[in-house]
Amino acid sequence: MKRGAKTRKKTLITHAGRDPHANHGVVNPPVFHASTILKPSLDALEASRKADFKGYRYGRRGTPTTRSFEEAVAAIYGADDSIAVSSGLAAICSAILSQVSAGDHVLITDNVYLPTRKFASGFLQRFGVESTFFDPMRPEELDALIRPETRVVYLEAPGTMTFEVCDIPALAKIAHEHGATVIMDNTWATALYFDAFGHGVDIVVEAVTKYICGHSDVMMGAIVSKEAHADAIRDCAMMQGNCSGPDDLYLAQRGLRTMAVRLAENQANALELAKWLETRPEIARVLHPALPSCPGHDIWKRDFTGASGLFSFVLKPVSRAALAAFLDGLEYYGMGASWGGYESLILPGDPSGARSATSWDEPGQLLRIHAGLEDVEDLKADLEAGFERIGALA
Ligand SMILES: *Cc1c(COP(=O)(O)O)cnc(C)c1O
Repeated sequence: MKRGAKTRKKTLITHAGRDPHANHGVVNPPVFHASTILKPSLDALEASRKADFKGYRYGRRGTPTTRSFEEAVAAIYGADDSIAVSSGLAAICSAILSQVSAGDHVLITDNVYLPTRKFASGFLQRFGVESTFFDPMRPEELDALIRPETRVVYLEAPGTMTFEVCDIPALAKIAHEHGATVIMDNTWATALYFDAFGHGVDIVVEAVTKYICGHSDVMMGAIVSKEAHADAIRDCAMMQGNCSGPDDLYLAQRGLRTMAVRLAENQANALELAKWLETRPEIARVLHPALPSCPGHDIWKRDFTGASGLFSFVLKPVSRAALAAFLDGLEYYGMGASWGGYESLILPGDPSGARSATSWDEPGQLLRIHAGLEDVEDLKADLEAGFERIGALA
């Protein structure tokens, strides 16, 4: 594909990583199922064993199916490299591990995805890498927490479950003054709604499982970076045997092609639900970056170009029976982990057990919603009927 530096993201989403005329005119890249990749001669075999070999050597190291997906993701981010791995969590772990050794220190935002917290404090610690969690909404405190051995400042925005939006350029600037690498989990906004590299991030991790795949049927992750970090990340992921299967790569790439239109609809439905929930008497708070009441809303407005379909709200305190009646009777909202698919989801959560540098003191139940692609009036009516069930038990 001919593309200049100015090609816009929606166009890249449609065209990057595809070369139909290299493939009989077939629109989507073919799926290569491969472990063994044969070499025709001793010369070719030996060449493929050289460290700088860029071709295809073994299934784990990727096939043309892998590369076409990786090329598309890197292009959308305006980055030099992207590597497809087996899940979002695998991307997080490999990205961090690519940067640290025993004796190093990592700083992590306190509202981070819970498995990231557990990886840092429960796993990295066993290998002599210490982690400190910090309040992402107080960038002025970061400088004092950085140590000579701090290698990584790890960010996620908005915060998991609670949706505060931190000042990424400010945090990245402080990290860089001390020579630390900035890794960011950009699963919520994706490349479409947050230009991570343009705001000081060095390495992006994204759960492809969510919006890129978009259909709740694939586990995959991506680590995206500039050239300076690319080799270290690839080496680390490969040492962990961290790769993706061909059919998942195919589905993820197919999902990617429609991400822009899906996300626009997820965004519109979520915003409409969030605004409507704010008017409901049953609600204590709505946590959505595009609402002025959300901590970091001004930063979201300054740095992000959209909001996706995921947000939370807090109910005024109700009995467990009333909460169960609300949730169990919902017709269109599925209850389960993950998000980013075409369907709506709802999930109760309790951030209080997952914070150490900040606290979560809301007395009511937090519920996280993923707004799917249904008609928003049906989504509202479903919640409204749920509020009536709460009212009947109050
Ligand atoms: C789901 C999620 C992940 C992990 O992705 P998996 O593919 O489920 O491992 C990472 N970060 C965020 C913000 C997520 O929501």
